[in-house]
Amino acid sequence: MKSTGRFEPNHRILVIDDNQAIHDDMRKILLGDVKTTERLQSDEAFLFGVEAVPVTKFEIESAYQGQQGLAKLEQSLSEDRPFAVAFVDVRMPPGWDGVETITNLWRVYPTLQVVLCTAYSDYSWNDIQRRLGRSEKLLILRKPFDNIEVIQLAHALTHKWLLSCQAEAKMADLDLIVTERTAQLRNAHARIERELQQRAKAQEAFRIIFQASTIGIALLDKNCRYVDVNGAFEKQFELNREQIVGKSPSELGGMTQLGLLSLHEAMERTPAAEGEEIAFRSKIGRHTGLVWTREVEIHDSLHRLCLVLDITDRKEMEEELRRARIAAEASTKAKSEFLANMSHEIRTPLNGILGFTGLTLQSNLDPAQRENLETVENSAWSLLRIINDILDFSKIEADRLDLQSAPFSLRECLENAAGIVLAGARQKQLGFSWTVSPATPDFLIGDEIRLRQILLNVMGNAVKFTAAGSVTTEVSAVSFNGRSVELQFAVRDTGIGIPPEKQALIFEPFRQLEGYMTRKYGGTGLGLAIVTRLLNLVGGKIWVESQKGAGSTFYFTLPFLLSDGPVPARDELESAHEPAIPPLSILVAEDNYVSRLLAVRLLAKEGHTVTEARTGLEVLASYERGAFDLILMDVQMAETDGFEATAEIRERESETGGHVPIIALTAHAIKGDRERCLEAGMDGYLSKPIQPDELRAAIRRAFALRAQTAEA
Ligand code: ADP
Repeated sequence: MKSTGRFEPNHRILVIDDNQAIHDDMRKILLGDVKTTERLQSDEAFLFGVEAVPVTKFEIESAYQGQQGLAKLEQSLSEDRPFAVAFVDVRMPPGWDGVETITNLWRVYPTLQVVLCTAYSDYSWNDIQRRLGRSEKLLILRKPFDNIEVIQLAHALTHKWLLSCQAEAKMADLDLIVTERTAQLRNAHARIERELQQRAKAQEAFRIIFQASTIGIALLDKNCRYVDVNGAFEKQFELNREQIVGKSPSELGGMTQLGLLSLHEAMERTPAAEGEEIAFRSKIGRHTGLVWTREVEIHDSLHRLCLVLDITDRKEMEEELRRARIAAEASTKAKSEFLANMSHEIRTPLNGILGFTGLTLQSNLDPAQRENLETVENSAWSLLRIINDILDFSKIEADRLDLQSAPFSLRECLENAAGIVLAGARQKQLGFSWTVSPATPDFLIGDEIRLRQILLNVMGNAVKFTAAGSVTTEVSAVSFNGRSVELQFAVRDTGIGIPPEKQALIFEPFRQLEGYMTRKYGGTGLGLAIVTRLLNLVGGKIWVESQKGAGSTFYFTLPFLLSDGPVPARDELESAHEPAIPPLSILVAEDNYVSRLLAVRLLAKEGHTVTEARTGLEVLASYERGAFDLILMDVQMAETDGFEATAEIRERESETGGHVPIIALTAHAIKGDRERCLEAGMDGYLSKPIQPDELRAAIRRAFALRAQTAEA
């Protein structure tokens, strides 16, 4: 912003004098005859080639008293055309004298240039200076005037007015510039001050964070010397900042700081570590750390930032968790194995009880003995069911359950299960029915035994927990997907019902809703837990809708593969072109005395000749001595077991020819047993306890097989 424009020359002159003659003189001197002068000058220029000097045209205003002069000055200021010079007379009676007039003029216009016109007899110079002060704006002109002097003064002073105006304007401009610059500098200063403060604060904040960080932080310069480390780093490596800063890893290595050494090794291995694990020792013990390194530019030079996170606690926790998990898994497995073994051990004598009770019941007994023995048989069957539940459950828990996949008829399976439950329903006089919706396919591939087990459980519960009314079962296909179908079973009863808040519990193992019920209804509380797990294994699910006192509906779904054709009925399979089994020569290998005796009795009763063996070695010895039509081989025997003995027999047969059918007797019925038996060269598979019917069927199958091989 500039205040100076170009200033116009100001030739306005105020003459203040009480004497009219002075005014006239002044006009004559300063104005003269402008026209004549101009004409003379142009002639001169023409004749002598002298350049014409422009004639100054002064404007003269007259005042006769000091007061009048002041008024004129004020007027000129108000019109913004001030006078450049005032000529003031010293004596102007009756008004102000010259000095007083000047004092007043300067009061309103301090920069006015004044020429004081005085005769020698007026004030002395000292007087004037004393009254007006020393000023470069005041000149003294002695009367009588010298014309040239007046003209020179007028010229000089009007010119000086212009110059001083310009100077003043320039000064104002300079002032303005200075003010602006000063303001700018002040702002800049304030900004820098603020920035410095912020930076100091940021630095302080950084320092606090740096120190408070639980991650160890170290900064190394490009020569690999430590520049800075934080508290966590000092603590991790048990050195203080002063010991580390300025040193290089090799210098620090000498201090046998094991921790730091392994850090340096890690840094050497990977220039940019991304959470590399290092192990180090401190006085407290072994540590595990994760190391990150980065190249960073600080103050225009490359540095290396190193971050170390101590994860010792986390590692220990992980390790503890891992150990705990392994221990838990091991104990679960041990528990399941224990249960499986226990139930096997219990089943073996139970097998004896049931077998011999059955045999005895077939002999002549008096009614009381028969009733007693039938009670023994019933109790033994109940016990076997409980043991079977526990065995099933522990096998599933230990992931040792073997699921079959074979063609079967859905309707037959349902009828079979319903037939078993029906007896109980009849006893309680309950309505009992089952339907399969027409669109449901009948020929399926899956584990029929397990489906029957599930149905028996759920339908059995429905009958068990219903005192009056009915139990109905509906089966329908809910979706088809290529070669598979998902079936839904709904088992509805009008029994005691289950309150909603307890419904989730009943699917957990060993949960029965009320203790007294257990006494009233019996059961182990394992049924639904087994069902739930079986369904999980095959990709099905189970849920219940029920209200207390208003009956329950148990739903379950499970997928099956679709089978191509009808499944030959079991009876057909077993009785088709089946002559009665002729007496056979059978070798029974079984190391348990009771089980062996039972097998021998059952077989002898059917008219077979039985040879006994207690170990694999005895089997092989007997095999060498005589020809057998069939071998029943317990897989678990002392010394050479059933698998080994079978393998050996098959080996010998490969040289001598022939093939004796071997049926495995297994106790566990665990996952893989079946495959192992077949792999070992066995022809069939029978799980203990031996049921007379199953034994007969297995022999029939093996005998048919033998007939086939004989024909071939
Ligand atoms: P269990 O029948 O051997 O006791 P489950 O696992 O089969 O064991 O059943 C668990 C519990 O669920 C039963 O004890 C009973 O309290 C409840 N429950 C199962 N089915 C029904 C039903 N249809 N009506 C009422 N309660 C039932």
